[in-house]
Amino acid sequence: MVTPQLPLWSDKDAAEAWVVRESTRARRLTVRVFHTGRVEVVVPARTSPHKIQHFVERHRDWIERKRHEARQKAVPDAPFPPLRIELAACGESWRVYVSGGNRRPRASILGPGLLGLSGDTRNKRSMHFLLRRWLMERAREVLTPALDECARELGFGFQRILIRRQRTRWGSCSTRGTISLNCCLLFQRPAVVRYLLIHELAHTLHMNHSRRFWQCVGRHCPDYESLDRELLDGWRRVPSWVFGDE
Ligand SMILES: [Zn+2]
Repeated sequence: MVTPQLPLWSDKDAAEAWVVRESTRARRLTVRVFHTGRVEVVVPARTSPHKIQHFVERHRDWIERKRHEARQKAVPDAPFPPLRIELAACGESWRVYVSGGNRRPRASILGPGLLGLSGDTRNKRSMHFLLRRWLMERAREVLTPALDECARELGFGFQRILIRRQRTRWGSCSTRGTISLNCCLLFQRPAVVRYLLIHELAHTLHMNHSRRFWQCVGRHCPDYESLDRELLDGWRRVPSWVFGDE
């Protein structure tokens, strides 16, 4: 029923253990995400690579979301609220100090590297909300100057920056020159963050992933291939409270 694997269309996806299988029984294209995060695309016999690629692109968001969920489940339950929050991007390690009380939950910075959570800690929704708001703020404070500096240093221009919290994308660049960055970048190594900034800045010149785009990225970031792979796997470094309990 299942014949050997077809050639893959992208090294990046192959590295992530994506496989395509041709099946004589398959009547249409389907995709499955295994609990390990492995992705298998099953296609009818003699489906063109172009069609497969198109199918994958159309479902990429769904696939990434499923893979994220699979990985989340694989990780043992971390305590909540977390005891510590490690922000690798800026080399910060925050201790979370929880003081109870019956008041409305509040988050406040008590000192360098000390984040206080007060109020009813049983209110998990509010606690999640507060931690996320703090994360978004920290991301704004760290990533905005980092992007400014990177653009200035390398001679790129952009219109404005937006910080977002997304499950499937690390960043994007609009035709109007708005660069969006995912707050989860704070959990990645500085070299990885710098690569992503260069990637999005290069989109201000090339609105695609053409050869010329990658050449532009490579000029400023020779290690881009391994850093891109590391970033693809970067969801593993995002604590579950960033998306959990919504
Ligand atoms: Zn891109």
